[in-house]
Amino acid sequence: MPEIRNCKICRRIFQYVNGPVYCPACKKIDEEEFEKVRLFLRDFPGATMREVTDNTGVSPHKISRWLREERLEVSENSPIALNCENCGVRIRSGRFCIECSKSLAREMMNAGRELRMRLGETGSKRSDTGFSKDDFGLYYKHRDEKNK
Ligand SMILES: [Zn+2]
Ligand SMILES: [Zn+2]
Repeated sequence: MPEIRNCKICRRIFQYVNGPVYCPACKKIDEEEFEKVRLFLRDFPGATMREVTDNTGVSPHKISRWLREERLEVSENSPIALNCENCGVRIRSGRFCIECSKSLAREMMNAGRELRMRLGETGSKRSDTGFSKDDFGLYYKHRDEKNK
């Protein structure tokens, strides 16, 4: 179902389909600007942010957003600084370096596992068998709740 949204750039109402919330006119400009920056960086991989904005007329704010969104990537030796938000190491696009995105993914996985374990525990306590498994794998009857 097509949605009616306000363009994020010019605030005009338009029929939103997908992607960024830009009206067709702004989307076209955005794509043209993106292409300009992409080609400029391809031809001048050593250009500074100032040189890119001066030559393309695109705001540095937009360029850094494209970099964060991983739509754009700077070359290995580009003076355009982009640092991992976690450890500050130099990166070419996105928000985190490969190491940090790996450990962040691992942390998220661990958090998920812990949560599942906790939920699993409460689940077993609620079981009405009246038996629990101890550390040695032996089953024993629940002690009287009053002893707790
Ligand atoms: Zn617009
Ligand atoms: Zn990092």
